[in-house]
Amino acid sequence: MADISLSALGKSFAGAPALHDITTTFKDGEFVALLGPSGCGKTTLLRLLAGFEMPTTGQISIGPREVAHVAGNRMVPPEDRNIGFVFQSYALWPHMNVRRNVSYPLEIRRFSKAEITAQTDQALQATGLTDYADRMPSELSGGQRQRVALARCLVSHPDAVLLDEPLANLDVALRASMQTVFTDFHKRTGATMVYVTHDQSEAMAMADRIAVMDKGRIQQFDTPQTLYERPKNRFVAEFVGRGTVVPMRGVEKSDSALHGHVLGTRIAVQSGDDLPSHVCLRPENLTISETGDLRAKVARVTYLGGKYLLETVADCGTRLLAETRARFDVGMQLGLTITTPWAFSEE
Ligand code: ATP
Repeated sequence: MADISLSALGKSFAGAPALHDITTTFKDGEFVALLGPSGCGKTTLLRLLAGFEMPTTGQISIGPREVAHVAGNRMVPPEDRNIGFVFQSYALWPHMNVRRNVSYPLEIRRFSKAEITAQTDQALQATGLTDYADRMPSELSGGQRQRVALARCLVSHPDAVLLDEPLANLDVALRASMQTVFTDFHKRTGATMVYVTHDQSEAMAMADRIAVMDKGRIQQFDTPQTLYERPKNRFVAEFVGRGTVVPMRGVEKSDSALHGHVLGTRIAVQSGDDLPSHVCLRPENLTISETGDLRAKVARVTYLGGKYLLETVADCGTRLLAETRARFDVGMQLGLTITTPWAFSEE
């Protein structure tokens, strides 16, 4: 079992906090994405897990083993944590061919020649690199280099693999196909994977659960679907899926339904709270109709393939995104009806 448990984990640089009081568990075999804007602490958290940095407070366990404990002054070095790393810079040895780059971790550990060959062949095959075994890293594309880094992880049978924006240097088409390589790798190894990204669609496509981070804290840690449909706060609602957050007044509970006034209209909402104060409006919550209570003007139209995304400005000044199959032009007036958005209470 290689659950990764973090307890009251914190890190400051010269007194400036980069991570605050993080207590959570990444479950054995889970694919976790750390998602958040630049500077929110994603890389710092990954470097603490790897053992490249000592935390300022708290502790980290990988499986049954405590690998960092500030109060106990305990710190297991990276090479003894049975962890694999994949970075955007690949970190391949330039003077070794693909086969040696992959087999080198086994050579260091003095495996038998036969075993090294068998395991390396298997890892090359699993990552689609068999035909490239004799090439040098300089003769490979970015995607192929990233696969070599993955194959090198594979031969080491790590308990956990840490990935820091591994696709950041690749073009859009290659990023999409590499996502499949990563998820296949995850299925094949069953390793716990922690994947840092600021790309929401990447996190949504690959991760079992996403930890959304802001200002050194995990704001919400949930499945992609729950994050999108039930954001806990304004930051998550706006960051994931670009929801528009607006206040709700006059909340009333009748039977099991919640109602409130949003942008001047009384609507039903869904919520985990008894007394929510804000709603998150996404395109799915807005229907365009002649009779819609909310009057708005089209400010921008983006074709999404088969449908259009309309950026509208309601009469009250709020910007709202709506989707439609019908064609609208900039400047046109329309009516919008709000249907059961998710509501939460602002902390
Ligand atoms: P990005 O997406 O831009 O890589 P990030 O979410 O990975 O950002 P971190 O690199 O973890 O963010 O940085 C978190 C905060 O800690 C930032 O304010 C950063 O300036 C600070 N920080 C990180 N490493 C150091 C360091 N070695 N010395 C001083 N401050 C640091």
